[in-house]
Amino acid sequence: MKNVVLISIDCLRADHMSCYGYRRETTPFIDSLAKRGLFFENAFANGPNTRHSVPSFLTSTYPLLFLDEVRAGRFHAGRKSIAERLKEKGYSTAAIHSNPYISKFYGYDRGFDYFNDFMIGQVEDEIPRGKASKVFREIIKGVKAVFMYKLPHEDGRRINEEALKWLEGVREPFFLWLHYMDVHMPYVPPNWSLRELNLKRYSHIKKIWMGKKIDDIRMREKIRDREITDYINLYDGCIRYVDWILRELIQKVEKNFSDTIFIITADHGEEFREHGDLSHLEKLYDELIHVPLIFYGKGLDSKKIEKVVSLIGLVPTIFYLLGLKEDRLMQGKNFFEEKGYAIAEAWKDERITAYRDEQWKLIVSDQKIELYNLKDDPKEQKNLYTKMYHREKVKEIKRIIDMHIKLIEKEREKRNTLLLQERTKRFINRLKARGG
Ligand SMILES: [Zn+2]
Repeated sequence: MKNVVLISIDCLRADHMSCYGYRRETTPFIDSLAKRGLFFENAFANGPNTRHSVPSFLTSTYPLLFLDEVRAGRFHAGRKSIAERLKEKGYSTAAIHSNPYISKFYGYDRGFDYFNDFMIGQVEDEIPRGKASKVFREIIKGVKAVFMYKLPHEDGRRINEEALKWLEGVREPFFLWLHYMDVHMPYVPPNWSLRELNLKRYSHIKKIWMGKKIDDIRMREKIRDREITDYINLYDGCIRYVDWILRELIQKVEKNFSDTIFIITADHGEEFREHGDLSHLEKLYDELIHVPLIFYGKGLDSKKIEKVVSLIGLVPTIFYLLGLKEDRLMQGKNFFEEKGYAIAEAWKDERITAYRDEQWKLIVSDQKIELYNLKDDPKEQKNLYTKMYHREKVKEIKRIIDMHIKLIEKEREKRNTLLLQERTKRFINRLKARGG
């Protein structure tokens, strides 16, 4: 039976990787895997940031299945994660990362034998709630970053170290999920990775200051357009760095566990003002949802796949490749059976839904409809809907979106009922046990 290493890289947009045609050689190692494995050229995240996308790809369910979860951040019990599923099949399971939004605090440790989010008691600090101590926290964060080189997230080398430690003496088969934050802002790549890309070096203080500006929402708005080039340089340097981190990890794991499938993807991309903002807000343009997707490992074909797929098919595909049967409560299909379009969704005071196939993108909310012809306008700058073009196409896609929304609502009801039944059963059993 095969082992699985699922690697997700926070904020890594596909079009900044050399294997996806980027002008800089940001990912020489990942490129080499893409050549030898299943290389999905058109893979899309189903949501635009961690809180939408990660629960979705871990469980093969759409991001807005449980709305209360989007608001509170809690990993809903009505979703069953790949870790829970593989554990039932006898797998050893572990997850290592340092993103507070998918921490144990929110219930993401479900199904893992070992779960390291590096957050002992820190989640409240990482996700600011009260204003009173915010200034104090910011000062501490700044001092740590400038003088101690301590960033808000763990360096990929630490993730690798912990992963290799867990793998010593692990019982096979295993499922290991590693989520790297090295491409997430503040972008603080080592200067050697900038040098590799023939980019100028930046002082540590400059990187931290730029990070501070992009991290703070009010300062972010004041970043001038001409500064964006520097942000992109640093972002690309971070990608070059994470590529090196993955080389370190994969070569070591491969040596000791030859029967392993490695999957490389991202939870979402990153915007550099293509649509007016920086970072990864609740929007569904390609810079935020087009993500890398590569399957590499013994026994896998070397193949380029152009078909549009979305990460909701990730868990079904893993089960398919492992030859395991499991489709209960999954909303996606394995990539080989998928329909050839992706649906992404986000909640920002209202539902925003996007349909994406190889030519068309339709984004629908209560306020606005946008239609883009990606063959002529890959950067999604000309909204054809306002020009009343392609009415029939819009109608056809709108029907798919409406069906999708109905399906989500039905599914939500079904799962809530199921959960209630389970809880009632457990409650009655507890009463019986006490009575007896
Ligand atoms: Zn993320």
